[in-house]
Amino acid sequence: MYIILNKILKVLKTLNYLLLFAFLTIQIFPQTYSDIDCGMTGFGESTVASQKGGKWMTARDTLKVLIVFVQFPDDAYDTTFTLWPTNPVSEIYPGPTFLKTYIDSTTSQMSTNGNLTHYFREMSVGQFTIIGKTRFVVTPHTYQYYLNNGWLRWNINMEVLQQLDATLDFAEFDKWKRYGEYDVRKESDGRVDDIFMIYRNVPNMSSLFFYGGESSLGYPQTGEPLEFFVDGGLRKIGSGHPAVSSSYPGMGTTSVMGGTIPYQVQVHEFSHHWMTDGQYYGHSGNGFWGMLSDWGCRLNSQGYCPPNSYERELIGWNAPDSIYQTTLGITLTDYVQTNRSVKIKVPGSNPNEFFRLEYHLKLSQFDNPEVHDPNAKGLYLIHQTGNTNPFSQLRLTPADGCWYWTADTIVHPPYYPSGLAVY
Ligand SMILES: [Zn+2]
Repeated sequence: MYIILNKILKVLKTLNYLLLFAFLTIQIFPQTYSDIDCGMTGFGESTVASQKGGKWMTARDTLKVLIVFVQFPDDAYDTTFTLWPTNPVSEIYPGPTFLKTYIDSTTSQMSTNGNLTHYFREMSVGQFTIIGKTRFVVTPHTYQYYLNNGWLRWNINMEVLQQLDATLDFAEFDKWKRYGEYDVRKESDGRVDDIFMIYRNVPNMSSLFFYGGESSLGYPQTGEPLEFFVDGGLRKIGSGHPAVSSSYPGMGTTSVMGGTIPYQVQVHEFSHHWMTDGQYYGHSGNGFWGMLSDWGCRLNSQGYCPPNSYERELIGWNAPDSIYQTTLGITLTDYVQTNRSVKIKVPGSNPNEFFRLEYHLKLSQFDNPEVHDPNAKGLYLIHQTGNTNPFSQLRLTPADGCWYWTADTIVHPPYYPSGLAVY
């Protein structure tokens, strides 16, 4: 528990000071650990965060997805990667060791091992449950075959899913229907809701239209169908992301592991199903944390970072308290676990410019606000600039010389007789 009472007022008093210097401050990002090679390039979400929910897919209730781990039979990349050995043993490909733990298969499982279900349960404070069924597939052809014959990502994904169709009923993945943007209802509609295709490795990714991650199953390039049937014609799986073009009916992601388990890439690409439109692909900030942060994410040891308060507000998981000059008695608790944050409207004509306060007590295992110091905790101030440039829509405002704090009390403990400030 962290009571800031007077501190917020002091922040407000210094707001003009901050405004003067916010644009002059040199942004020094810390050493960073994650650059996401995301195929969705463009600008940040243009609208003000307004509790709209998921734009293309539900961000509430329960979603069951199909997760397919895919390997080429001639994959010779990083043969020492023990979490997903590549070579067959007695003619059987071992597949990923985390096949059964990557996501929960039921809502009652409630894993605490840092898998996808655990992450989204904590980040949504129980409002969104993602569960799934996982499969491991070795492609029918070699990588070299696909390359030689001009196959691209969509062709290969289609072939893998058609092969799975022989032994898999997709009905359990058809529980949601999109009526329009931000209008996704719990009904079956003859379309598979969401599929994660996760490749062990894809050499020369760009030649097959792969990226480190992209928020679709691929895009038809040479006359392939936009969608295809599974379950004997009962259900369809579509290509593309509808934000890219309304002709694309797809809802899925494709990512490439390349020797690590980059959970953040899968979180990131999936989040494009909540926060992406055709003009503004949803990347909103860099260098700190966020599901749609594109590079420099401050990841935990498993490769996750939490959503920032802008994202939580945008998809309807959080309604931050607004504070004004007259506000008294705000109490901030751990931002990540208790979903508490504050926003302060910046005076001026831009309706989307705010300061956001997040108190990171680091109670959550997914939170690592200072990658250099595992024990660091504190109050963070994010400047929502009001523009949609992905490099500056959200900025973590460094405290260096900008913040004006006054200690309420000075104590003189034996171990520090000269006095410590108490806030
Ligand atoms: Zn992206």
